[in-house]
Amino acid sequence: MSSIDYILLAMEPSSTLDLLERALRAAGVVPVVVKDPDGLERALREINPAVLVVSERLGDQSGLDLAKHTLDRFPTLPIIFYAFKHDPDQVIQVMRAGLSDYLFPPLKINLIMQSIVDSQNRARKTGDWVRREVKRSTASLEARVSDMEALVNLSRSIAASLDLDSVLTSVVTAAVELTSAEEGHLLLLDESTQDLYMRASRNFDDQDAHTFRLPVNDSLAGQVIQTGKPISFCQDSPNKIKTSFLVYALVYVPLSYNGQVIGVLGVDNRSPKRSFTQHDELLMSVLADFATIAIQNARSYAASESEREKLQTILANIQDGVILMDQEKRVLIINPAARNAFDLGDSDVIGKRITEFIENTDFKVMVNSALDLPLKNQEISLENGRVYNSQYTPIHAIGSVLTLEEITHLKMMDQLKSDFVHTISHDLRSPLTSIIGYIELLDRVGPLNQQQKEFVKHVQVSAHSITELINDLLDLGRIEAGFDAMKDDVAFGTILRYTLDNLQHQIEDKHQEIIFDIAPDLPVMRGNPLRLRQVIDNLLVNAVKYTPENGRIKVSLRSESNQIIFEVADTGIGISPADQPHIFEKFYRANNAPSSTRGTGLGLAIVKSIVENHSGRVWVESVLGRGTKFTVVLPSNLPTVE
Ligand code: ADP
Repeated sequence: MSSIDYILLAMEPSSTLDLLERALRAAGVVPVVVKDPDGLERALREINPAVLVVSERLGDQSGLDLAKHTLDRFPTLPIIFYAFKHDPDQVIQVMRAGLSDYLFPPLKINLIMQSIVDSQNRARKTGDWVRREVKRSTASLEARVSDMEALVNLSRSIAASLDLDSVLTSVVTAAVELTSAEEGHLLLLDESTQDLYMRASRNFDDQDAHTFRLPVNDSLAGQVIQTGKPISFCQDSPNKIKTSFLVYALVYVPLSYNGQVIGVLGVDNRSPKRSFTQHDELLMSVLADFATIAIQNARSYAASESEREKLQTILANIQDGVILMDQEKRVLIINPAARNAFDLGDSDVIGKRITEFIENTDFKVMVNSALDLPLKNQEISLENGRVYNSQYTPIHAIGSVLTLEEITHLKMMDQLKSDFVHTISHDLRSPLTSIIGYIELLDRVGPLNQQQKEFVKHVQVSAHSITELINDLLDLGRIEAGFDAMKDDVAFGTILRYTLDNLQHQIEDKHQEIIFDIAPDLPVMRGNPLRLRQVIDNLLVNAVKYTPENGRIKVSLRSESNQIIFEVADTGIGISPADQPHIFEKFYRANNAPSSTRGTGLGLAIVKSIVENHSGRVWVESVLGRGTKFTVVLPSNLPTVE
């Protein structure tokens, strides 16, 4: 017995207790005596007794209950029960409670000592066994933890790497190391030949690995591909996987993705008596999942790379400029045509805000005001003389894309055409004026018969039409040439009322209803009053012209955040979607314009030019057969240009 062993005696004072104490001391053991339950509780907390002897009663409590309670808390503590007299029923209870021994008077010292020593030995053996078991399960836990660590590290390296070769080699290496296998390999299915080829291996001869091929139809690995289920075996005699490839133990697990098996991960032992466990198979399945993720990552990356390259090639080769921007208008993609348009060369503009490095005013106005409309077209004239038709389209959750189509040559042709028309119109005006003058003189120089008067009237109407056309053409030429730069303070509402008064007759003739919605206190704007009147006039005349009798025309005028908004809506014949993009072009008349309705096809071209000269916008919304609405938006705070 060791000198630090305490024997705890939970007994009330008695001659037996004295005897026990003396005997224990003589045997070199330190007895600690407690006389009531509280004392027992304290002693259990403070010392670590080797044996507890508890008597039948302690204070007011049953010794057996105290012993049971103590054993619940300290299952390895040997407890000897001391009965005041031998009672066979009590012996049974003591044994059932799991106590170590049962003593009763008369006490024989050698028997007591023997009982204590036996109890202590038993407890020591139990303690040793428990410690051994704990060590054993801790060792297997440690092995599991180290497996888990290896798996976690592997999953990290898979997530961080796009190099499929190194990831798959790591997976196979981990499979070999974690299962303590001799060799391992990863086979992938070649869809075209339905063969399995070796994509990664460990402890395989390089040459073998390169030439290794297994048919799906007649191989164990092929069976895994076909069934999607793992296979494992351990045999006394080697199994032939392939000619000259004999193994005693093997685990094959499938690499499955979306219900499809794309390959097999395998480990094997070529020497006898080295088998794999279920835990090994489980680890292999986890590793197979890692490999599948890595393969899918690599395939998706390759697919997106190839899509990106395709897109790059398309963008690099198309003639139109393309700029893709995020929601903060920072450049994500810009193609060579767009770089070329703005003379950007190779400068690093990706990630920069577009307005930081493109100074052009037309461009800035377009990009900054693009939020108002979902789709926007604008002509951009660059300082180098080139002109682009630009389209700005917001893209949900990305930002926006801007395309630039060069129209410099079209603009030049348009200019040539305008110059030509202008010259001709100018040259025609004088002879035409004299034709009209002489026709008016005709009936003054002699009487005309009824038929001659008819003819003269026809000539007059035609000559006036030609004059109108020529005036429109000359007007357009002047507006386009920018000869109307002079601007004044204009009260748009007043001009509108004046124009409406002049049209009253025509409206009444057609029994049309006209509704006004003119906001009070409209701001004064800077503009050319004559030209703005032309805008109002052309739109109102069209509304009256293209709305049948008894139709309704609504005119509204309001101001919103430094803008004057003028709208003319009618219940007329409408404009087809096919005609709508062209009606602002010169000489364009829609298909459904009645031939009896006179017109030059220049009115809206004039409206557009004037509005744009005032930095405004005009657009049409129309439903065929239902009606048309023209909207003009003009800035009311346009700076003075003198
Ligand atoms: P026009 O002298 O022919 O009226 P415009 O340039 O003013 O020429 O208009 C061009 C064409 O647009 C017209 O010929 C007509 O087809 C169509 N259009 C213009 N305004 C309206 C409208 N309010 N309703 C229907 N069609 C219209």
